Amino acid sequence: DIENTTFKRVMLKISGEALMGDTSFGLHPPTVQRVAKEVKSVHDLGVEICMVIGGGNIFRGLQGSAQGMERTTADYMGMLATVMNALAMQSALEELGIHTRVISAITMNEVAEPYIRRRAVRHLEKKRVCIFAAGTGNPYFTTDTAAALRASEMACEAILMGKNVDGVYDKDPKKHDDAQRLDRIGYDEVLQKRLGVMDASAIALARDNNLPIVVFSLDEPGGFKGIMAGEGTYTIVE
Ligand code: UDP
Repeated sequence: DIENTTFKRVMLKISGEALMGDTSFGLHPPTVQRVAKEVKSVHDLGVEICMVIGGGNIFRGLQGSAQGMERTTADYMGMLATVMNALAMQSALEELGIHTRVISAITMNEVAEPYIRRRAVRHLEKKRVCIFAAGTGNPYFTTDTAAALRASEMACEAILMGKNVDGVYDKDPKKHDDAQRLDRIGYDEVLQKRLGVMDASAIALARDNNLPIVVFSLDEPGGFKGIMAGEGTYTIVE
């Protein structure tokens, strides 16, 4: 139960692609449901959960701009993509009986609450899962930065990066058989070596606010819950 968990309030960041399953675009409902079950298992422990979901499974601003779109417009489209993912996750979580709020950095009152910090904190205290959508609300940022920002504002104890690998390696484990997973690494080393944990501005923000980043595999069933017991394999950036 909550007395024994490593963290009492966390930010779970997942990419849009994590909701794609084996498809190459968009949302794969069974995968969304699987991730929702992982979230439920941690919610059941009494942990307060914030989530930020990317939008890369639908649209990325940089890709749009590489194809000739105006960059800021493309970025706003990327932010809107994250709202769709947030709504899909909300639906899957509520199906499991968990109360949630989608809180958008871009106001769209018909589909999501506007972001009001004190209100969001209250939702967490009432054990509602808060899904922060539309990134930071600003172009030229990413949802990694949004995760670090909201985690700081919500006083989360850690950012949990749910990935498809079980941590940070000294070299690309898909290319090198002898790649070693690191148990611990410093923010500055991640930045210097450009290890793909989060983008640089997100790491700097986490560092400046003393927010540890836990990189773990979301593909591993029970992995998220394991982190709460200090079990399993992961890398901690601190
Ligand atoms: N985005 C943005 N500002 C933000 C967050 C996101 O402009 O604060 C846009 C940006 O274009 C980005 C897209 O939304 O490419 C999707 O987010 P991201 O690439 O972070 O998603 P992920 O890679 O995590 O799926």
